[in-house]
Amino acid sequence: MSKTVKTVDLSHTAGLYYGPATISSGKVLHIAGQPGNTKDGHVPKDYESQIHLCLFNLRKLIIAAGADIKDIAKLNVYIVDYDVNNRKHARPLQRFFGKHRPAQTLVPVPKLAVPEWLIEIDAIVALPEPSLPPVLPAASENADVIVIGAGLAGLTAALDVIQSGLSCIILEARDRVGGKTWSQQTYDGKGHIDVGAGWLNDTNQSRVWAIAKRYGAEVIVQNTQGKAVLENWEGNVFSFEYGEVPNFDEETRKNVTEIRDMCEAECQQLDTWRPRNTELDAMTFEAFLRSRGASKAAMGTATVWTRAMLGVEPCDISALYFLNYCKSGGGLLIMRSDRKDGGQYLRVRGGTQTLSKGLASSLPEGVLRLETPVQSIVQEQGGSLKVQAGGAVYSATKVITTLPGPALKNISFYPPLPPAKRAWTESLYYGYYTKAMMEFKTPFWVERGFCGLANSFIGPAGVIRDSCIPQDNKYVLTCFMGGEPGRAWAALSTPEREKTLLEQIGKLYGVSNVEDQFLKMTAYEWVHDEYAGLGCPCTTLPPGVLDTLGGDGLRAPVGNLHFAGTETAGEWKGYMEGAVRSGSRAAAEAVKDLNGPITARL
Ligand SMILES: Cc1cc2nc3c(=O)[nH]c(=O)nc-3n(C[C@H](O)[C@H](O)[C@H](O)COP(=O)(O)OP(=O)(O)OC[C@H]3O[C@@H](n4cnc5c(N)ncnc54)[C@H](O)[C@@H]3O)c2cc1C
Repeated sequence: MSKTVKTVDLSHTAGLYYGPATISSGKVLHIAGQPGNTKDGHVPKDYESQIHLCLFNLRKLIIAAGADIKDIAKLNVYIVDYDVNNRKHARPLQRFFGKHRPAQTLVPVPKLAVPEWLIEIDAIVALPEPSLPPVLPAASENADVIVIGAGLAGLTAALDVIQSGLSCIILEARDRVGGKTWSQQTYDGKGHIDVGAGWLNDTNQSRVWAIAKRYGAEVIVQNTQGKAVLENWEGNVFSFEYGEVPNFDEETRKNVTEIRDMCEAECQQLDTWRPRNTELDAMTFEAFLRSRGASKAAMGTATVWTRAMLGVEPCDISALYFLNYCKSGGGLLIMRSDRKDGGQYLRVRGGTQTLSKGLASSLPEGVLRLETPVQSIVQEQGGSLKVQAGGAVYSATKVITTLPGPALKNISFYPPLPPAKRAWTESLYYGYYTKAMMEFKTPFWVERGFCGLANSFIGPAGVIRDSCIPQDNKYVLTCFMGGEPGRAWAALSTPEREKTLLEQIGKLYGVSNVEDQFLKMTAYEWVHDEYAGLGCPCTTLPPGVLDTLGGDGLRAPVGNLHFAGTETAGEWKGYMEGAVRSGSRAAAEAVKDLNGPITARL
């Protein structure tokens, strides 16, 4: 090969007569056709799963060459038996590009080189100039450990570090603590509403419960007395006892129950921290459900789960990632439950931000720096780090970032993060997820014998939950808009959003004059919040990433840079509990290196 052409090879394909990608003149990356297979050559049967794998294969090569998705100049997309009415590649590709718009040619083909391949993509990428180390002035302050982010993970990490006798500074971009715990006032200012995390429990969420107790949080048990409601694909509404399977016909009931129990059993078999299963990770959750014989109603039920838990459609998420997400919270049934031990058992009367504010109140003075967004992190030759934030430079022996993966994009790292870490963090994405709290004058649903829980296959709200604060005479229904119906709802004006939710509420609980009861809608769109990483409640992964890069890939330290935040958690990933546990885990890593093992606990 000439000196001006270099091969990029992640899969050790030296035995082949062609390279997966080549760089010419140091400036252009040519990527050979990438099919939708795993690193071991496994090809899932369905087209949609192959699309995700194909894009991940492209991403890996682009990152390995030191480039970025926004450097793609041209793509050729080859699709077998292309059907203009079934453009399943469009959504994953749009998400892959973000705001970037490369030139693209779609080539329908009768077949590809390997009979199982249904899609193949090749690409030309313009390589960026290698980045030079930023020249940072001398640090004005120094600490043993710098923690980035004052959400539950960051506050916990900082307190653990301080309790071990080391010095610590927390750099937080916002003017408040709490991150995704954020409590606002009700209509009349006499109660609290959570626009972020709302629910916790007092058993298997032991760390967050300890914090709630420590700071005197008053809790409200979730109302599960009375009937629940289901709205099916046709818009028909059924009521049934909370905890039962809805009254479908006998065959459908059996199938819905079997699919639910099968998901529970499959998730329980996975390792919580390091799940491995190439076949499960090669397919979307939707393909997995179809392969197990899910009926239309079972698919609707599973769609309620993925929308309500992560804001995604079953076709957007790896089956392995979703099942492991369930396992991390003790299993699908526990995560979906509003009763004892369940993910939605208790609420905090003063709002969950009470917990974050409580932790912040325990910090020694001067540790917390609000309105200090971190822009760059430089690891120097000797291993120490410089952090540039809010116009100042800080230095530390260890840095713990608690940022969600997509928010890491706002920070320049030097040296750049290793390719595997980049592939992990850049593959993480948020679905669409918004909570709208609807305040009413009376709990009319309770008066009609409903507990407030409603599930809908069609939306706009996929799930509705009672969020009353009886002590404060506050009567609230929280509507969860997730996935595609959520996006459609988000495209409406605020009055239209209110109107559609009121119509749905009226229909679900059989009330004709719901507008007369209505006081106020409170909603916050995390999808526009750059410090949340443009979404919530937790990031998710398409097929291919988890099994290829391994469960530890996201949380593994890079030199003296440590990674926390709820999405790095083993247990209760995506929840407050996961955030707290991740903060302690990262603090223990840092402290162990600096000081020996950590012993203090809240
Ligand atoms: C709508 C919604 C509903 C939820 N429901 C529940 C629930 O019922 N139960 C539950 O347990 N969990 C729930 N969650 C999830 C829960 O809120 C999170 O898992 C948890 O709060 C995450 O904590 P964290 O510290 O990992 O991250 P975050 O809270 O995201 O904290 C990260 C911090 O980093 C800061 N930051 C970002 N960029 C920078 C930068 N460049 N420089 C400095 N600082 C930066 C951010 O401002 C933020 O404060 C919900 C979340 C949302 C949004």
